[in-house]
Amino acid sequence: MSTVEVRDLHKHFDAGRVRAIDGVDIATGEGEYLVLLGPSGCGKTTLLRTIAGLEQPSSGEVLIGGQAVTGLPPRARRIAMVFQSYALYPHKSVLANIVFPLRAARVPPDERTQRARRAAGMLGIEHLLDRKPRQLSGGERQRVALARALVRDPTVFLLDEPLSNLDAKLRASARDELKRFQQDLGTTTIYVTHDQSEAMGLGDRIAVMSQGRVRQIGAPVEIYDDPADTFVATFIGSPPMNLVPHGDVLVGFRPEHLLPVENVPGERVTATLEVQRMEYLSGDRHVYGTVDLGDGPCRVIARLPATVETPIAVGERHEFAVPAGRLRFFDAEHGLRTEPVRLGA
Ligand code: ATP
Repeated sequence: MSTVEVRDLHKHFDAGRVRAIDGVDIATGEGEYLVLLGPSGCGKTTLLRTIAGLEQPSSGEVLIGGQAVTGLPPRARRIAMVFQSYALYPHKSVLANIVFPLRAARVPPDERTQRARRAAGMLGIEHLLDRKPRQLSGGERQRVALARALVRDPTVFLLDEPLSNLDAKLRASARDELKRFQQDLGTTTIYVTHDQSEAMGLGDRIAVMSQGRVRQIGAPVEIYDDPADTFVATFIGSPPMNLVPHGDVLVGFRPEHLLPVENVPGERVTATLEVQRMEYLSGDRHVYGTVDLGDGPCRVIARLPATVETPIAVGERHEFAVPAGRLRFFDAEHGLRTEPVRLGA
């Protein structure tokens, strides 16, 4: 029904001085929830706007439902967008806000109201239809914006940080709601965020972007366990993956895989950790220190769950280990994944 595909997409600004999109290829599955994740300025919004038709690409193609739409105006694309600023009309009621796109599309009045009520019902805001936006909470406003997007029966949703105006608690519940809602509807969705926990929680797949390019695209678990390069390895995960130099490679391992040696049965690589600082975070101990794999001391973080009770004090040296299967290797020059290297211990 409706997939989104971009082929070798480029978007330049300022006579080519800014390469906001620098050669992107992405194809969504049918009904997929794809998240575009990356730091500020990496080109997420520009990519979404180009898919929507609000920007024309410098080169490359956009396809929706297998049809080339490059050059077509936004209204010809059957997409619905929700942006960070919901831009509700402050003087119109919630109902009037929701039906607005249908008025513009000249849908008959009875049908408009019926569709608006159905959309409001799906989002649990039927009781708010007579209110003005200023009489709503942030979360309710966001649902109105979604209802307004939904009412047009789009084949694709494009969402640009729609939750970023909400406080942390509301954001978590809105995120759950959005996910459930998308699953029920099965509408292909592309969602932009710079928040990795949002991306990990929402996405069927995540496209990690940096400097106008896609560094990696895959399921959250793949991106986390098998990062394609050091950018992805350190952008995803909090605290990020440790990277320790060893000859021509960087040896990567997640903080939760660096544990006191007695907690790591089986094949493992050991290293002495000089403990410099400790933090307690929701029951976990975060141990900050240095290890040396032959190229001098390198800062690392170990994350010990509450079940690891080994006493550890600042200033001590401790034997730690990482299961061999948890090590990832990157070439030191370009940061790309490379063949495993045998480490001494
Ligand atoms: P954020 O998370 O901060 O919104 P983003 O990843 O969405 O960032 P974009 O807004 O797509 O990034 O911007 C990508 C790059 O293109 C940035 O360097 C930005 O300054 C530049 N850019 C975007 N729009 C324009 C424009 N109209 N003219 C010139 N440069 C632009």
